[in-house]
Amino acid sequence: MAEATAAWEPVPRSRTFELVLARIEEQILAGNLRVGDKLPPERELVELLGVSRAAVREALRVLEAHGVLRSRVGTGSNSGSVIAAMPSHGLTQLLRLHMALANFPLGDVVEVRATLERSSARLAAERATEDDLARMREDLACMDAAGVAREEFNDCDTDFHVAIAEAGGNRMIADMTIAVRNAVRHTLLSAFHSLPDWEPVAARLRAEHHAIYDAIVEGDAERAGDLVESHIRGFHQDVVRTALQAADPGRS
Ligand SMILES: [Zn+2]
Repeated sequence: MAEATAAWEPVPRSRTFELVLARIEEQILAGNLRVGDKLPPERELVELLGVSRAAVREALRVLEAHGVLRSRVGTGSNSGSVIAAMPSHGLTQLLRLHMALANFPLGDVVEVRATLERSSARLAAERATEDDLARMREDLACMDAAGVAREEFNDCDTDFHVAIAEAGGNRMIADMTIAVRNAVRHTLLSAFHSLPDWEPVAARLRAEHHAIYDAIVEGDAERAGDLVESHIRGFHQDVVRTALQAADPGRS
């Protein structure tokens, strides 16, 4: 009998937090919890779910890390955790980690960027406001500045693509574009840094960005989409892959 009972291992208590997560997710999916809503206080969740305080806390920490919850410090009716609306932030963090772990091959990421940003640019050509265009011009000016550092160029490049995504007005496409663009930020920056001859690359990127901007200003959705897509694909093909291969010849 002793041998038969040996097969029964106790359920690790630490996994309880996953069940707590599942319960909270159920409430969100059912529409019972919406952005801005407050989660029941910790001790109430402990009672409602019949779990330990540690399990509740761990579940809340995971949701916070995913950008779904924001904890509010304080006491009384102001304390507790609030359902947050920051999908791009949460998505960016998740994607960045998965990319760092190479869960998504760079080629797949490029494909997703090309697809998303083609849509963003088409929408931007139809819908960009004067404010949107002004923000794009600021980014262009930043990248055009003589002697601009690669780091700053990369920041303004990122913002230019984000500005296009936001000008398109489709929140979901914009958030996904932002998440993916931010997730590749470090890869692009290290590619920038490994280039022995930065100036010709910077000149090419500047010209491409200006052409994209002009197509958006002219409301030419087709051309804006084509230009963004070839900008992204061309850059990865000619610059990022070359730089990564130079840094690590075993990589393809
Ligand atoms: Zn760019």
